[in-house]
Amino acid sequence: AKDPVRVLVTGAAGQIGYALVPMIARGIMLGADQPVILHMLDIPPAAESLNGVKMELIDAAFPLLKGVVATTDVAEACKDVNIAVMVGGFPRKEGMERKDVMSKNVSIYKAQASALEQHAAKDVKVLVVANPANTNALILKEFAPSIPEKNITCLTRLDHNRALGQIAERLSVPVSTVKNVIIWGNHSSSQYPDVNHAVVGGKPVREAVQDDAWLDGEFIKVVQQRGAAIIKARKLSSALSAASSACDHIRDWVLGTAEGSYVSMGVYSDGSYNTPSGIIYSFPVTCANGEWTIVQGLPIDDNSRAKMDATADELVEEKALAYACISE
Ligand code: NDP
Repeated sequence: AKDPVRVLVTGAAGQIGYALVPMIARGIMLGADQPVILHMLDIPPAAESLNGVKMELIDAAFPLLKGVVATTDVAEACKDVNIAVMVGGFPRKEGMERKDVMSKNVSIYKAQASALEQHAAKDVKVLVVANPANTNALILKEFAPSIPEKNITCLTRLDHNRALGQIAERLSVPVSTVKNVIIWGNHSSSQYPDVNHAVVGGKPVREAVQDDAWLDGEFIKVVQQRGAAIIKARKLSSALSAASSACDHIRDWVLGTAEGSYVSMGVYSDGSYNTPSGIIYSFPVTCANGEWTIVQGLPIDDNSRAKMDATADELVEEKALAYACISE
């Protein structure tokens, strides 16, 4: 039998955490043959609720779950973890300035970077979910210099899956037949969902849909604004889809993407596709042997170029804002 993998979930008493931990314990993230030990972190006001989640995990008697650590101590939470899913963050509240939200998250991610640096497994793989996800991941990278930069990523897989879902709904086909959409850039409404290389049942999506106006207009808007639409409908932000896509992100990263398929991940930019280096930007990637590689050589038209640059500009601006918060 395999040795258990230690998986940290921060903000584990929150709503994404509540959807995510049972998925991990059921083997949806790392496979049906991979035992796991769950490390759940939250802040002291959520400690009691966190303990309730631990009780439910015990009650669910998951065969793969070999242990649960539920704590408000960051060092204890990070001890020897192999995978870290960072869901905890300071939410933007009514009337708060962007700078105030950034400042709160910069201090959270700075502290958690140091804890991971000191206590996690040397080859820990990190996925940041909490917003602003790309910039939180960048701060984490800056303050955890001994963690390889390749190991620090942010979630844009939910946006990717939303794009697949919209195309499948439009064509009334199973979502599993659609692949190779791309989310470029920031996990924000400036993201660019690109269908120019996407296929459905082997056919280019543009040929199958036969409605470029929809693909270049409404489709993009729906994907960009989907989070807000869920909040409007549910009066709560998306949780099960966020949790599920976090599992997809880690599973593909660890176990590999299928031949001929790529997925979107926020990764440290090396300047591919003339994006600025030094930011965490979402690219199309393939994964093998536990490593992601940016898909190279896709032709980019002028329309795409402008959208890829606009979302990059936003990330450069967020980075400057984050750095201003650090030096304060
Ligand atoms: P959720 O579990 O709903 O969301 C957690 C984070 O994920 C938020 O930052 C949210 O951003 C982000 N997120 C990113 N992508 C998505 C998406 N597509 N859909 C929804 N959310 C997304 O929040 P809760 O408030 O229920 O739980 C947060 C937990 O974190 C709480 O238990 C709290 O105690 C803890 N926390 C931890 C802190 C720390 O570690 N120091 C600090 C503050 C809170 P957005 O807000 O933009 O929706």
